[in-house]
Amino acid sequence: MESTRLWAGKEDAEDPLAAFRAEFALPDGVIQLNGNSLGPLPRTVPGALDAVVRRQWGKHLIRGWFDDGWFDAPERVGDRIGRLIGADPGQTVVGESTSVQLFNAVAAAARLRPDRRVLVCDAANFPTDRYLAASVARVLGLRLVECTAGELAAVLQAHRGEVGPVLFGAVDFRSGELLDLAGTTARIHAAGGIAVWDLSHAAGAVPVEVDAAGVDLAVGCGYKYLNGGPGAPAYLYAASRHQAALDLPITGWHGHARPFEMAGAFEPADGITRARTGTPQILSLLALEAALDPLERAGVAAVREKSLRLGDCLAALVRELPAEIRPEVVTPTEHHRRGGHVALRCPDAPAVSAALMERGVFTDARPPDLLRLCLNGLYVSYTDVFDAVAAFAEVAAAGSGERRAKGER
Ligand SMILES: *Cc1c(COP(=O)(O)O)cnc(C)c1O
Repeated sequence: MESTRLWAGKEDAEDPLAAFRAEFALPDGVIQLNGNSLGPLPRTVPGALDAVVRRQWGKHLIRGWFDDGWFDAPERVGDRIGRLIGADPGQTVVGESTSVQLFNAVAAAARLRPDRRVLVCDAANFPTDRYLAASVARVLGLRLVECTAGELAAVLQAHRGEVGPVLFGAVDFRSGELLDLAGTTARIHAAGGIAVWDLSHAAGAVPVEVDAAGVDLAVGCGYKYLNGGPGAPAYLYAASRHQAALDLPITGWHGHARPFEMAGAFEPADGITRARTGTPQILSLLALEAALDPLERAGVAAVREKSLRLGDCLAALVRELPAEIRPEVVTPTEHHRRGGHVALRCPDAPAVSAALMERGVFTDARPPDLLRLCLNGLYVSYTDVFDAVAAFAEVAAAGSGERRAKGER
């Protein structure tokens, strides 16, 4: 094992992204493997927020809206996130929570196909996505059909001519499986549907190309691989070709063609600006903007390449564990089917995750038996992966000893 740790150290020494670890304010002794839940704090953020609060808000007061660029921040930060997901400028806007953006995107997608009465949602999707798909179906009187990615072709066939919006997550939040964004979108289009993607687990982790894939609408949160901090605002992407017809149910004066006229009737602004609502969360929005800096400089492609190598490394180390504690690697091993995290199936995953956290290894668990390890190449090292597997081996061996003592297998 020690020779493997030396090997990991050598990989770190040759890693072109190694220096980015220092751009995050990670406490000493912590191995951050749950950046798919909450990305760590980029060192660019505290200073930027301090300037926004003390200098801009504190000194400029209301002039900050224009003198400090607050008013344009939703589109400006949107374009920066757009670059990370393969969107040309003018199609992405930031603000609100993921829930609001999901509701708006799915309902607007349904309104683009008013004659279609079936809404399809990924059965493995994140709970909020499924709740909101069901809610949109109730509000608009649509029929909700849930299915897995594997069942989608059959569902589209069974409901020929009826399917409007189809909402899928690009990366399964449990298993870490990456779907074929372009292929699935093409299949949805062939059936006359509108493809709405949740990119929360994909943006910043895998190279997403929404324009090239012909995606219609997409949303995502700002605090996972984009590192925008707890409760960072979410984003909405709407392809240019749909914008003029986009009828979003949740609107606000910032989405009006002439916001300062305070007009009585809503007249949507041109372009993606119509997807703005009311006053945006400027503090969170500008924290997110500052947070994008290290990821942009490293580039998603380089981060992805390293993340895949870290994942291969993890799988190899797991294969060497003794059979009685060896977890099953649930995430597909093929690179084109793997997202940013690797899920391991092991008994007592929540207890294992808690014991790992006590040792400074931050992972998380999803019930009943999945341990998720996010291997973000931007700040995770090869030595981190080695040390995390060593810690897992100790924790799992202790747990398996306890179960044996209790006579449970
Ligand atoms: C993380 C995530 C969310 C989070 O929604 P919040 O409203 O920000 O809590 C939603 N959908 C998916 C697919 C996610 O991965």
